[in-house]
Amino acid sequence: MSVPDARLPRVNAFRDSRPASAAPSAGRPTATPSPPPGDLAPGVRRGRLTELRGPGVRPRSLDARALAALAANPGCRRRALLDGAGIDKGALAQALGSPAAYGQSQFAIVRGNAFESRVKADGGTELLRLLHERLAPGTPPPAPEEVATPDLSAAGPEGRAARTALALREATAAGGWALLDHPMLVVEVAGSPAYVEPDAVVVHPDGSWTVVEIKSFPMIDGSADAAKVGAAARQAAVYVLALEPVAGHTGAHTGRPVRVRDRVLLVCPKDFSNLPTAAAVDVRKQLATTRRQLARLTRVEEIAAALPDGTTFDLRLADDGKTPTRRPEELAEAVEAVDAAYAPECLAACELAFHCRKRSREDGAVEALGRGVRGELGGLHTIEEVLAAAVPDGPESPEAPDDGPDDPAVVALRRAAALRAEALARPTVPGPRAEEPGCR
Ligand code: SF4
Repeated sequence: MSVPDARLPRVNAFRDSRPASAAPSAGRPTATPSPPPGDLAPGVRRGRLTELRGPGVRPRSLDARALAALAANPGCRRRALLDGAGIDKGALAQALGSPAAYGQSQFAIVRGNAFESRVKADGGTELLRLLHERLAPGTPPPAPEEVATPDLSAAGPEGRAARTALALREATAAGGWALLDHPMLVVEVAGSPAYVEPDAVVVHPDGSWTVVEIKSFPMIDGSADAAKVGAAARQAAVYVLALEPVAGHTGAHTGRPVRVRDRVLLVCPKDFSNLPTAAAVDVRKQLATTRRQLARLTRVEEIAAALPDGTTFDLRLADDGKTPTRRPEELAEAVEAVDAAYAPECLAACELAFHCRKRSREDGAVEALGRGVRGELGGLHTIEEVLAAAVPDGPESPEAPDDGPDDPAVVALRRAAALRAEALARPTVPGPRAEEPGCR
């Protein structure tokens, strides 16, 4: 299955579903975590980011879906900073009085978890069967007892990422099939490490690795909702990206060529049943887009350094741990201190969308009309400027030379305004023509 490359909407991801106290199993070798890519002067940067979150506030974990959405709007410094600092944007939006109106329902989450458990039951026998059928036909099928399922538990996301890297290395060196259930991977986002957790990664006997995404939307007659498949592909591309440096290290250690496959396995319920079916999804486009967009993100510490002294997004929760005591006006001031790049696409991808939309509308910014319109309007930045430019003999954009309507946007606006005026000048309901008999 190939999916069109919908515009990439986001990234930071750490979702540690295991207790922080979990320790590596006794007797198992533990890998020393290598420094996260791009980690700079941790004392300085982390101290500033802690100030931004507030004392004692744990950094918010992000998932690959959030990472893909961040990558889709690389011009938004506000989101890059909030995500990079691990700030809970949902809680912030709520405290600002503009709560987010999207997210998965509890029912959908429970249903998704139940389906995933079913797919991975019996040591992943059905999952491996589907993967072999879709991605490795013509090769010997994996016998259930030959599939390694390494334990990936370790303390904290860094420990789990290191344990995952070690398990991948061991499985690749062994030259057999291996199923890694919820491995932890790290990817650099705006100069900070972000931890992402795919549903599974499968190691093939030839040394290649496949990312597995398990979703609860149905695949009917072999095809699924294109928008949902596109979102899953963007998410999977983040995992592939995170696996690439691990593959490089593994290849150097094992002496085997290691390849992260750019076709991932998407597993969904078949038709209207609870039985799993799967399709191979080509994520090459999504991979290229995510790589490019993440590289464009401004480093978090640069954005933080430009903030006025004392800026913080701390909600100062009351003793109940839920009620913010910080005034919304103060929070709004802190949020406005960082530039945003609002677009209507934010409504489906960012918890702060209602707040940013309100501000964008108050400013009369043309960005609120969509990226397409924004591009068409060239040097006109506000609705007021657009309306003024549409008037014949009115001013052009402030950046345009004052020698007539050369700007194609202004020419088009004046033409549209003239057509509208002409249409409005006509009688709304034409009467019967004199030569035609009236309706009896
Ligand atoms: S809603 Fe606001 S903070 Fe979020 S991505 Fe859009 S502009 Fe940035």
